[in-house]
Amino acid sequence: MEHKCMQCPRRCGVDRAAGQLGYCGVPWEFSVARAALHQWEEPSISGKNGSGTVFFSGCNLRCVFCQNREVSHHALGQTVSADRLAELMLRLRDEGAHNINLVTPTPYALQLVDVLRTVRPKLGIPIVYNCGGYESVETLRLLDGLVDVYLPDFKYADAALASAYSGAGDYFEVALAALSEMLRQVGPPRFDADGMLLGGVIVRHLVLPSHRKDSIAVLRALAERFGSGAFLLSLMSQYTPDFAMDCPDSALHRRVTTFEYGSVLDEAQNLGFDGYFQSRSSASSAFTPDFYGSL
Ligand code: SF4
Repeated sequence: MEHKCMQCPRRCGVDRAAGQLGYCGVPWEFSVARAALHQWEEPSISGKNGSGTVFFSGCNLRCVFCQNREVSHHALGQTVSADRLAELMLRLRDEGAHNINLVTPTPYALQLVDVLRTVRPKLGIPIVYNCGGYESVETLRLLDGLVDVYLPDFKYADAALASAYSGAGDYFEVALAALSEMLRQVGPPRFDADGMLLGGVIVRHLVLPSHRKDSIAVLRALAERFGSGAFLLSLMSQYTPDFAMDCPDSALHRRVTTFEYGSVLDEAQNLGFDGYFQSRSSASSAFTPDFYGSL
């Protein structure tokens, strides 16, 4: 049966099951680049044991500065069946993972519905949907009740930036609608006795060099639309130019300055956001996971 992929806002209409590729560059079957405990998420996600990350291949944004470009741009990964994917999640749980962290799951969101229905009751730990924020509300609705924590980026306010860096001029409106649906599903943050996140939303925002005003516009828009207490904010300074040196826009060829990050941080605190604020020392390509091991 022909299947036209419309599951994310790109609405490519290609038949991935027949080998056609859309913007995300991956076929219909699950493709996984890495499944391992990961320590470098926010403290309420990583905890002391680590988050059980499953890095999926492909991406529907493919940002020009992406730190994981072998996986996002070049679709590095291994094809796995739905049963094997469930086994990987159970293995991570058995290794002590505090949660199952689905990284860049967007091209597989529909396929994940059945897997999560089956495996979630056996796991007994939260399911985290860790994405770029460019999501279809219709697809997210199918995940209602299957995801405990949404961990979306909110990358841009400005359409020209979103278009230049992620090929998504409608990013702001799409991400705003998606975040609204995520908040509707999981509500405000909830923690266990050890401070681990059981449910809710963490919005990540990466401050980009030369674009602190856009960061401030993002924060103001989110505060105005949702209030600053609806979700946790993770304000990231870890931008590294190592992955963007071939980008013609020289604005991306340096790190974020102390002034740039500090001015965005001041605005976040003035707006009353709570969450996670990074030190600039974390701006390093060493944070990129190894994607060349076995699963
Ligand atoms: S999931 Fe991939 S193929 Fe499907 S609409 Fe999105 S980018 Fe296109």
